[in-house]
Formats: sequence, structure tokens, C-alpha cells
Amino acid sequence: MSKDYYATLGVRRDASQEEIKKAYRRLARELHPDVNPDPETQERFKDITQAYEVLSDANKRQMYDLGADPFSSGAGAGAGGFGAGFPFSDIMDAFFGSAGGSRGPRSRARRGRNATIRVELDLAESGFGTTRELVVDTAVLCEVCHGSGAAAGTHPDTCDMCHGRGEVSQVTRSFLGQVMTSRPCPQCGGYGSVIRHPCMECSGEGRVRTRRTIKVRIPAGVEDGTHIQLAGEGEIGPGGGPPGDLFLEIVERPHQIFERRGDDLHCTVQIPMTAAALGTSLTVETLDGAEEIDVRPGTQAGQIIPLYGRGVQRLNETGRGDLLIHVTVETPTKLDPAQEELLRELSKLRGEERPPGKFSPGQQGFFSRLRDAFNGR
Ligand SMILES: [Zn+2]
Ligand SMILES: [Zn+2]
Repeated sequence: MSKDYYATLGVRRDASQEEIKKAYRRLARELHPDVNPDPETQERFKDITQAYEVLSDANKRQMYDLGADPFSSGAGAGAGGFGAGFPFSDIMDAFFGSAGGSRGPRSRARRGRNATIRVELDLAESGFGTTRELVVDTAVLCEVCHGSGAAAGTHPDTCDMCHGRGEVSQVTRSFLGQVMTSRPCPQCGGYGSVIRHPCMECSGEGRVRTRRTIKVRIPAGVEDGTHIQLAGEGEIGPGGGPPGDLFLEIVERPHQIFERRGDDLHCTVQIPMTAAALGTSLTVETLDGAEEIDVRPGTQAGQIIPLYGRGVQRLNETGRGDLLIHVTVETPTKLDPAQEELLRELSKLRGEERPPGKFSPGQQGFFSRLRDAFNGR
């Protein structure tokens, strides 16, 4: 007569694979011979394992549901429980968690750390891009052991404390009964193996520190604080693990004349009152060299003269920002008698001897100038 495998595991007949696995794991923790050595429990462990063996396999479960028991017929292998046909890995898998879980020996190979280096650029370099050779102190793969950490001609030995499992089990008593808990093996540190003869070159770390030079292309338009990620250019990981990334942090040196705001450059030019009134032409230094600009007659203090497309290159885009020249008008402070005479004459001609002044609220003038600056007027 067939056993009721569903009842043995305490699951419904329509239980999912996940539910069956969970039920088995819960029972196996309780009934595992390592935890509970008495004979009756061992029998029950065989029963639940047999039930799991059938119900966890879609084909066998279907056969069983149709009335056939893969264990009740045949050459008596069934009752023995751990006979041929028991895929041991399945049981271990159910008991210790599936592959990819946290259990089992951990790899010595770990990813290397990321590194950040600061790169100082002047405005022309950040604005138009540049190429830099950087000296990086980093860790590279050990050429002698190729990351394994073991001396030439030797291999890591399987740890004799955990037999390669990387963890050791311990039975503790709790209100649920006896529970088996696992912790990383103290002898091998959870690796499952021990390096008895470490590589002399890297002291078993699988990597060595070195200084190398890398050539990097810095794109046009980066600015202060921009981070550039160079994937895989960081230090190599311990045990031959993959390298981390290298980040370049851009530090922009202040420019003597230009102040950068985004892609635009700003500067201030001071012109005499007479030049503002009469108009003039000026030579302006730009990042592209000297340029001649016209100051129109009647230019006001605070007015902005734009040079379109003379800013910095836009990052990852085409086109450039603008150069915005803010005009300040210098009022003469020292007048000789002849100059004063001329100005008084001018003031009289313009009827400005007692000007009423034009008042406006607050800093309106300031804000409208700012607005004009952003509208490029
Ligand atoms: Zn080595
Ligand atoms: Zn160990």
C-alpha cells in the first residue's frame, strides 16, 4: 500500500513546488539525523525524504497522483530511503538552500574596490576636452599565482574542519526543539579551503600593489564636480576577483577673467562714461582668442553684450554656450577744471542740472538685468 506523501510532508494535494520544498526543509531541519539521532526520528526523516523525492519531481509526482508509487514497487530500494536513485544533491539543495543562496563555501575572489582620483583642469581643458596621463596607485593581478594566492606548484587544500563546506553546523535547543544552525568555518574563514603555502609574491592575496599610468580622454564640457566612470580601471579584487571602477572627479581651476555658469561664460568690462555714451569698440579675450566687439552708443551700466557660441562645449551634445560680457560704466572721480567746465556745459545743454531721478521699487533694476542676462539680451 502506498504511503500518503502529501500527509507525510503536511501539504495539500495541490501544493506548489515551492510549498513542497518549504515543507520539506522545515521538517528536515527538525528530523535530520545530525540533529536528532534517535531511531524513530531517523525513520521519519527517511519518510519525509522519500515523500520529497517523489513530490519534488514533476514526473514522479504525476505518476504518484495517478496511483503508482515509484518506491513501493521495484527491488526494495525504496524502503531503504538513501538507496540508488536518491539524488543526493537534491536533498542537500532542499536542506541547505538552492544554489546561489548564502550557504556553502564562499569564493576567495571578490570584486575590487572603486577608486576616485581628482583631476585638476583649467577652463579651456574642461570646456573643450583634453587627454591626460594619470598615474594610479592600484592593485593588479599577481603574475606569479594568477590570483589564486597559492605558491607556484601548490593548490589550496580542502579545509579539514568543514570538509570544504565553508561552514560548520551546531545543534542548539530552542522552544521549537533542537535546531541545527550553521556558521562560517573558523579555520578557513568560510572559503572551504586553506592556503598552506601562500604565494611569496602577493602573500596569498592574489594581487599586488603597483603604480601604473593610464591615458584618459576627458570629454569637452565637463565641469567642477563631474565624475567620469572608467569601468574596470579600479583595483583588481582579492583572489583574482574582477576589478572595481575608477572615477575621475573633475576639479576646475578658477579662470582669471571668466566665470563659468553651466555652458556660459561671464565676464565684466569697465568702460568710461564717455565711451558708454558715444559708443566704442573693444578687444575682448575669449577662449578662442582675441575678438573685436562693438559697444553701441548709449550703452547702460549693467547691460550685457553677448558673444553667442563663445562659451564652452556642451557635454555630450553639439553646440556651445555663450560668452556674456557685463558692462560697468566708470564715472570719472577726478576732473580737471577744463573737463569740469565741459561737463557742466553738457549738463546745461541736456537740461540735467537738477535731474528729478527715476525711481523704481527695490532692486527691480538688478533683477531685470539678471533676467536679460538669462534671455541673452
Ligand atoms: Zn601571488
Ligand atoms: Zn573550513
